[in-house]
Parts: sequence; structure tokens; C-alpha cells
Amino acid sequence: IIDIRGLHKSFGNFEVLKGIDLSVHQGEVICIIGPSGSGKSTLIRTINGLTPINKGEIFVEGQLITGPKVDKLALRRKVGMVFQQYNLFPHRTVLDNVMMAPRLVLKEPKAEVRERARALLAKVRLAEKEDHFPGELSGGQQQRVAIARSLCMRPDMMLFDEVTAALDPETVKEVLNTIKEVATEGMTCVLVTHEMGFAREIADRVIFTDGGRIVEMGPPAQIFSDPQDTRTKEFLSQVL
Ligand code: ATP
Ligand code: MG
Repeated sequence: IIDIRGLHKSFGNFEVLKGIDLSVHQGEVICIIGPSGSGKSTLIRTINGLTPINKGEIFVEGQLITGPKVDKLALRRKVGMVFQQYNLFPHRTVLDNVMMAPRLVLKEPKAEVRERARALLAKVRLAEKEDHFPGELSGGQQQRVAIARSLCMRPDMMLFDEVTAALDPETVKEVLNTIKEVATEGMTCVLVTHEMGFAREIADRVIFTDGGRIVEMGPPAQIFSDPQDTRTKEFLSQVL
């Protein structure tokens, strides 16, 4: 469903991604781990066209998204993304926040979107908060609203970039549980995470990146229990 070939990305003279090849299959859950600055965010941002690339090709559902004449809107609709900063609109209610993109971007009928938004809020266990404003919610609750908001666009796949990194430890778990539910329901997910236990639990494959390259890739049991590369071993010895 995602096919990345020979991807290079530089910022100025600094090459952040130095040749990434990666295929993600429908329904697969991929966790990307690696040291700060290794290019994890840059990599997943290329998948929904947020970061233009210098060399290589990315296909999403068989369509080249790195060539000319790419429909960015269609791409962002297919590929949902949730960030560390949830960026909800503070003066809109929770329900309005979730409904906004399908209403404004897709121009879908209000009643239909509202029904879907409510179902998603129930799914992230925030049904009773629909009339609240983001500022009245905890960080973890706001992040779950952000996940519901993204799902309301009915994406075919989801990208998560360290969505729990800014949260209090007590609320991390509820957000991880929400993601786990989304992932186990068959959504294709690519997650950048520092939560190693979580990665081990939900990933079909774990990718370790360092210095702009995929150093090692495999099932979680292999990466966490029997890493082959010394850089992976070193990284894991620091974070586990
Ligand atoms: P972290 O774990 O800290 O989030 P990361 O693996 O996500 O790190 P990236 O955010 O992809 O790393 O950044 C990789 C490198 O690219 C870093 O050295 C960063 O400073 C640089 N970089 C990222 N975005 C830009 C930008 N817009 N302009 C210039 N340099 C950038
Ligand atoms: Mg990052």
C-alpha cells in the first residue's frame, strides 16, 4: 500500500535521508524507532507529501506521489496523520473539531459527518465530551480527539509521529490503547514511537533508523531480543 524506493532527502547540504527502501502492506503496523535526528519524522512526512523529496519514488496505493501533478488533497485524505502537537481549534467544540475537515474539505453532508464524528468520539471514549472545548480536556484526551479527527476523514492508512511524547505518563496509556484499537481493526499504521513496550506489542515489523538509513528491520521479537547490528544493540541498551 506504501512503496518507497531509493528515497533521498536533504535540507540544504545536510542529507537527512540517505536512500530509504520500504514497502508497507495493507493492514500492516510498522513502528519506526531510532535516535533523535535520525530522520524518522522526515521519513513519515514524505509519505503524505508534507516534505518534498530530492530523489527516489514513493507510491501510495500504486500511485506515484512524488512526481509532478500530484493531487495533494486526495493524498492527505488517504493518508491520515497525527502529530505530537494535536493543534485542535481552541474555540471550537470537540465535536466541531472532529467534523471540520470532512465538512470543509470534502463538503460532506452535515448529518452524515456528525454521525460519524460521534461514533468516533465514542470509539476513543470521549462521547461525553463532545460539547467541551479542547482546553477543558487533558492532553491525552485532546490527543484522542486529534486521532478521531483524523479518522473522520476515513483515511486508508494512518501515520503517527510520537503522539505520546508530550503527554503526562498517566495519559500515555489511554492514547496508546486508542492507537492499538485502530491498529488491530486492520488500519495500516506507520508509527514513530519511543514507547518500546508498545512497539513490541503492536508492531508487525519494527524499523530501526540511524543516520538517515534503515539499519535494521524485522519482527519485534527479533529486533528487541536479537538485534543484529551493533547500532541497534547500542540504541536499545540505552532505551530499554
Ligand atoms: P526526533 O526523534 O528528535 O524527533 P527525528 O528522527 O524525527 O528526530 P527528523 O525530525 O526527521 O529527526 O530530523 C532529521 C534531521 O533533519 C535533524 O538533524 C533535523 O535538524 C533536520 N531537519 C528536519 N527538518 C528540517 C527542516 N525543515 N529544515 C532543516 N533541517 C531539518
Ligand atoms: Mg521526530
